[in-house]
Amino acid sequence: MAYIFEPNPIPTLPIAGSDKLFPVRRIYCVGRNYAEHAREMGHDPNKEPPFFFQKSADTLLTSGDFPYPDKTSDLHFEIELVVALKSGGVNIPADKAMSHVYGYAVGLDMTRRDLQGQMKKLGRPWEIGKSFEKSAPCTAIQPADKIGHPTKGAIWIDVNGERRQTGDLGDMIWDIPNQIAFLSGLFELKAGDLIFTGTPAGVGSVKRGDKMHGHVDGVGDLKVAVV
Ligand code: MN
Repeated sequence: MAYIFEPNPIPTLPIAGSDKLFPVRRIYCVGRNYAEHAREMGHDPNKEPPFFFQKSADTLLTSGDFPYPDKTSDLHFEIELVVALKSGGVNIPADKAMSHVYGYAVGLDMTRRDLQGQMKKLGRPWEIGKSFEKSAPCTAIQPADKIGHPTKGAIWIDVNGERRQTGDLGDMIWDIPNQIAFLSGLFELKAGDLIFTGTPAGVGSVKRGDKMHGHVDGVGDLKVAVV
């Protein structure tokens, strides 16, 4: 059977040091996975554990230009370590989880904070705050067989040369094996899934003309201009 129109292209990420592409299936994002960030958002990390939401795979942005989105006057950056899966399953035990990881990237969970806040207040889904066009800037994937599996190291973002967020991968409330274990109990994970693993304290807003430079030790740098 023929399609009634040309299917949209499969979202992909480049792979560092390779001419092959990583085809992306889903993007899972962890909320409030660093205690200091949970507190800055007004929550007690001891009482409220992290949780998940999704962004559409076609929100990935691999160019260095992030267009300021409509319908917001409070656009926030959230620098995150991104995990890329090469396989999946359901109910994956934490001690088997890392065998499903293909590699890592540096990503931004761009957020229309004002819209997210309105939706939170109304008890409605977050999509309009989180899953808008180009809301997931991301670097090329670094294969784990080259860089290993980072479990600690600095994660930070500078805006116009000024340090805004800073943390350590070791401060995640749920580490990566436990994120995969938990997620695979709720969803069937598959090759091509990405996990944005949460953001450290210091989230804030950017405006047109700002230059963001995110970094994760051992993984790389993500440079994005707000245009
Ligand atoms: Mn986030």
